[in-house]
Amino acid sequence: MQNYKMWINGKFVESESGKTYPVYNPATGEEIAQIPVAGNSDIEKAVAAARKAFPVWSQKSQAERSQMALKISKILREHAKELGEVDTLEHGTPAKLAGFLAADIPEWFDWAAYNSRSLMGHTIPVSPDALVYLQREPVGVVALITPWNLPLLMIYQKLAPALTLGNTCIIKPASINSLSCMKLAEILDTVGLPPGTINIITGPGTSVGASLVANRGVDMVAFTGSTETGKDIMARGGQTVKRLQLELGGKNPVIVLDDADINMAVGGMVRQQCFNTGQICGSTGRFYVHEKVYDEFLEKFIAGMKKMVVGDPNDDKTEMGPLVSATHRNKVEGYIKSAIDEGAHVVLGGKRPGPPLDKGYYVMPTVITGITQKMKVAREEIFGPVACFMEKFHSDEQALERANDNTYGLTSWVWTRDAARGMRFANNIQAGTVVINQGHGGGPEFPWGGYKESGIGKEGSLYGLYEYTNLKSIQVDLQAQK
Ligand code: NAD
Repeated sequence: MQNYKMWINGKFVESESGKTYPVYNPATGEEIAQIPVAGNSDIEKAVAAARKAFPVWSQKSQAERSQMALKISKILREHAKELGEVDTLEHGTPAKLAGFLAADIPEWFDWAAYNSRSLMGHTIPVSPDALVYLQREPVGVVALITPWNLPLLMIYQKLAPALTLGNTCIIKPASINSLSCMKLAEILDTVGLPPGTINIITGPGTSVGASLVANRGVDMVAFTGSTETGKDIMARGGQTVKRLQLELGGKNPVIVLDDADINMAVGGMVRQQCFNTGQICGSTGRFYVHEKVYDEFLEKFIAGMKKMVVGDPNDDKTEMGPLVSATHRNKVEGYIKSAIDEGAHVVLGGKRPGPPLDKGYYVMPTVITGITQKMKVAREEIFGPVACFMEKFHSDEQALERANDNTYGLTSWVWTRDAARGMRFANNIQAGTVVINQGHGGGPEFPWGGYKESGIGKEGSLYGLYEYTNLKSIQVDLQAQK
């Protein structure tokens, strides 16, 4: 078992209090590491280091910072194998997927490197005697607070644009699985960043995360996590009017119309439901299926879920690993129980697997039917391999009304062979993303972010880069120069 250290001002340090917390392997329940719990003095040191580094880093040319981002991308790819192994160990990500992800997602740094170099300003033609122009500047010290569900991707999506655009960063990863981030620190320590440009502090969100958000030395909080925490961050960050970028929860509708290609829809949606054991914000949250095709879709969907290979994440044949923690498994099981108590029917799964997987935090692929709009599982995010089949619908208007009847608005799917019908849904669904006839696309080119209680701001695309800049208006009276 290894003891890890935080990374503050370019040095690896214990917490001042010496307190640590354990990290477990979710596939076996074994303790695998001890991680420091940051105290207030550690947080202050990280903030001071990031503040001191800001003038140094932000004054470098964009070309120089973009070169650094490319260097980081290269080195992360060189270390993809070990980063993938840590992901499998602490998160239970199937090895094949973890390896692929670790090698693929450094592209966020390439994207930030290239696109930051063409983030030009504008001039405004107010009058021939005045020069009015707009320039983009880094915001300052950014706190990056990330969830446990895809530990490295969640960090790269924020770190790549924040750093490349000249901000200095303090990363606070989820306490459940901070190891990937600690491994990242070891790698980033070798790239030659000015000390304090990136700092990593660890510990529970309610103490370490909350103090960081409240700290006056932090200019912006880029957060991905639950809506509940997002609201707390808005309230706390509001005290010092911080810039906030919030990527929050989702309860995403899947609408299967009566003219859909059912086999294609089933294939795409089974994969989406079980990806990362259902622990993604963009998971399939509510299935609305037209009454004419409901039975066929459900039967084929159940058959697809049954074929999902659940197992040891280190086995290359495994398609779905465990949930991240015992606490989270209990939460998912609590949702399944609540559905039964409210009158819905578990038609597949709902159980833990037997030996040899019984020591890990597994829940088998599950399908629940007969769910009504008011039930808890229709309204809240389950974050597990649990497909929620809502009551059958009979018209497009009814499907749309039910799909929009939710406090979240992150993403959505529509399956239809009629392009115009699909577009009518696309125009009227209240969500940041609508996907027609395919699984989810993703990557740095796509703007990602929710409507309603799913968040504020975008990640990815040029809109995502803008989040990490302040827009300054500069006005010069040219007559005064005469
Ligand atoms: P969480 O909100 O419990 O924790 C997220 C992070 O916030 C962790 O680092 C945690 O330690 C920290 N935190 C907790 N309380 C805090 C507080 N009061 N102040 C500051 N920081 C605090 O979320 P989670 O359980 O780690 O992640 C799952 C959630 O993340 C789901 O709701 C999921 O939908 C959401 N998510 C959203 C996206 C997106 O892009 N919209 C992507 C991934 C995950």
